[in-house]
Amino acid sequence: MNLNILVLPGDGIGTEVTREAVRVLRHVARKWNHTLHLSEGLLGGIAIHRTGTPFPEQTERLALAADATLMGAVGLPEFDNVPPEKRPEKGLLGIRKALGVYANLRPVRTYSALLDASPLKNHLVDGTDMIIVRELTGGIYYGTPRGILEDGGETRAVNTMTYTRAEIERVSRMAFHLARGRRKKVTSVDKSNVLENSQLWRRVVTEVAAEFPDVALDHLLVDNCAMQLVLNPRRFDVVLTENMFGDILSDEGAVLAGSIGMLPSASIGDRKPSGAWVGLYEPVHGSAPDIAGQNKANPLGAIGSVAAMLEYSFGLKEEAGAVNAAMEAVLQSGKVTADLRPSGAPATTEQVGEAVCAAIG
Ligand code: NAD
Repeated sequence: MNLNILVLPGDGIGTEVTREAVRVLRHVARKWNHTLHLSEGLLGGIAIHRTGTPFPEQTERLALAADATLMGAVGLPEFDNVPPEKRPEKGLLGIRKALGVYANLRPVRTYSALLDASPLKNHLVDGTDMIIVRELTGGIYYGTPRGILEDGGETRAVNTMTYTRAEIERVSRMAFHLARGRRKKVTSVDKSNVLENSQLWRRVVTEVAAEFPDVALDHLLVDNCAMQLVLNPRRFDVVLTENMFGDILSDEGAVLAGSIGMLPSASIGDRKPSGAWVGLYEPVHGSAPDIAGQNKANPLGAIGSVAAMLEYSFGLKEEAGAVNAAMEAVLQSGKVTADLRPSGAPATTEQVGEAVCAAIG
């Protein structure tokens, strides 16, 4: 298969973790005989330094031409006090918008070697393996009217939650497609006992479910879902929800797995003519200026993002499974970075990348 991928290392530890993620990608391509076309672009603080803007036109062109984009992290302390539109983080919003990615996927799985890092009891969290699918471009974060108003001597704040049928349909189809490749279960999360938005959400999700008779659907109210995530996380396969509920639930899901350096994410849009799903893959963490340039960042979130890319954008389940299994083997071996508190001397970022490749074989 042709894997046409743009790499945007970004700032701080972004460059270090993407180097290891690319090492793993090259290894997988060699082993399974895929042809890798890699391009590299500028995003974030480094892009401001070189071109004056966090999301240069050249980067946009490269992203639109690629099948998938692998991102490190952006953000440099020197920009902490500049206005939001001039900050490196503006580049993230720019690329998400340019690519039209409307579903954010957060895989949440536990690794047996890290069970003690979870705040939950081992027997509750062991075996957790879910994906939270969050609608990314609609809902209350984007609805209008919005603002803080002076109204007859009273100050009032207004936000608007709004969804169209089309917005709900496309993200629902994505969730059902994903479930088909997994344990075939979608849990849709809403607040339909109170919100009209959620009533439309539930109606449309139920209609889309009819197109996927092999996938089971259940509905949970968001308050109950927040509770079930900590009471019985193994019950979930694919969790489908709107933007704000997903924002909150995905962070709740994130802590189940342990260190922030472990967490991958994927943002997906429509299908390209090549058959690949447009996708933007990045670890959840930021540029970590406190440890940047020291070869001690945990690259597993970035490497997990490569696994997610292989699976979601290219449908390469075997390769993705091999990367995930290799990460598990490396965790078991104890060759991990300092954030995972190894019993012996911590491994470097580079050593972890090399160990994952060796474990893939
Ligand atoms: P951060 O995620 O960069 O760091 C938080 C803490 O976690 C730090 O102590 C850091 O050392 C540690 N950490 C993070 N990733 C790690 C890894 N892979 N291995 C080991 N330790 C790791 O968050 P922050 O400090 O709030 O933000 C730093 C900069 O990153 C800011 O400029 C922020 O705006 C930016 N940021 C960018 C993104 C992104 O690019 N998607 C996300 C979050 C924050």
